[in-house]
Amino acid sequence: MKYHIWTEGCQMNVADSQRVASALEHLGYSVTPKPEEADVIVLNTCVVRQSAEDKAYGRLNSLRPLKEKNPHLVINLMGCLVGIRNNDALRKRFPFVDVFSPPSDPSPLVAFLTQSEVRAMEESATATRYAYMDGDLVLPEVERGKLVSAHIPVVYGCSHACTYCIIPYRRGIERSRPPEDILAEARALVRQGVKEITLLGQIVDRYGKDNPAYPTLAGLLIRLSEIEGLERIRFLTSHPNWMTDELLDAVASLPKVMPHIEVPAQAGDDTVLENMKRGYTAEQYRELIARIRERIPGVSIATDIIVGFPGETEEQFMNTYRLLEDLRLDVAHLARYSPRPGTVSARRMKDDVPEEEKMRRFRMLEELQERIVGEINARYLGESVPVLFEEKVKQRWKGRTPTNKLVFVESEEDLHGQIREVKITWTGPWSMIGSLKK
Ligand code: SAH
Repeated sequence: MKYHIWTEGCQMNVADSQRVASALEHLGYSVTPKPEEADVIVLNTCVVRQSAEDKAYGRLNSLRPLKEKNPHLVINLMGCLVGIRNNDALRKRFPFVDVFSPPSDPSPLVAFLTQSEVRAMEESATATRYAYMDGDLVLPEVERGKLVSAHIPVVYGCSHACTYCIIPYRRGIERSRPPEDILAEARALVRQGVKEITLLGQIVDRYGKDNPAYPTLAGLLIRLSEIEGLERIRFLTSHPNWMTDELLDAVASLPKVMPHIEVPAQAGDDTVLENMKRGYTAEQYRELIARIRERIPGVSIATDIIVGFPGETEEQFMNTYRLLEDLRLDVAHLARYSPRPGTVSARRMKDDVPEEEKMRRFRMLEELQERIVGEINARYLGESVPVLFEEKVKQRWKGRTPTNKLVFVESEEDLHGQIREVKITWTGPWSMIGSLKK
């Protein structure tokens, strides 16, 4: 019995797919890279932008002939295309799909395959645990003993209503996972060879805020730091309004927590930020970046930006441009605004920035960022940095610095899972090259 998983979208989906794979292997399935050989196919989908949703439909339609050829094939549609609510329309449109699963929940598929009558789908809308596991997470075979860097979802869902964002509608309200579950999962991952863990949440810095019995994210980081064999800890994504000094000081003082913060601005103009309902001004974002840099020496900072939000004028866009120009952040994930069904911006605001103009603004920020990041990275030249190596890609070992910069090193040694001092010999905006220090 074989399974095949196709995953699209964010790190949360990558983590979710890993847990589906784990559940399927527990039931005796083994992985195949070829969908036409599989008995079970899982499509884990993303709908954050129209392009992602279109990809999911394309994939889904490509499965129709497979199902016609092999009626025993089980097709599981999962993730944000399904969402947590009623999906009768999807069921009608894709009658050849056997199982529909909300994000982060393998249990409807497990229930289907084991013929149980569990109404897993309804239960999972408020669940803070994966239904199939209260204890250990066993990595899928291809990753066991090999995966160096793993993700752990710590907050499911999101209750912040950014006007452009479909995620709260599809992933449900914010639910922090019990700290014991997270710690148990982290320990299990470390036993299977994992050296680095990244905690995931839509607003990860709100961890624990929905349950008075839980620690804060800083408290969770302290407890995770105590796990022997775990070398590095990261977390994403933070919302500016929840970045407490307690959290920043935990990052600065805990040696295992890496000096890297992902904190999206989305825009650098107050009117646009207000229309997005982000809850802060551009000035407050600038102050936050200053505070992060003051409290965490050597920190690298990543942001997300949306260009072409409804009503965004040239001048408003230029405020975003100047924000990036002034702040000189290490990474900017750029997106062109895409109206999503059901969101406030799609219902009430006109998508009035033409596609070519969105593209022009996107390219301008892309060029700006390429220059800035090139300059930031050039400062690493000749420096020595500890790199955690993950895998060999072609002839070169690939790893990351504490600040999350990608480094390639040529070496005959087996560097898998090791942290080694590397002298940087070449830098570019997207990666660096170095040599092992003897
Ligand atoms: N909670 C996460 C959001 C994850 S979605 C966060 O705050 O970062 C990842 C990114 O996709 C968002 O940060 C945003 O920049 C982008 N995005 C979300 N909705 C979008 C939309 N409707 N159009 C374009 N980009 C969008």
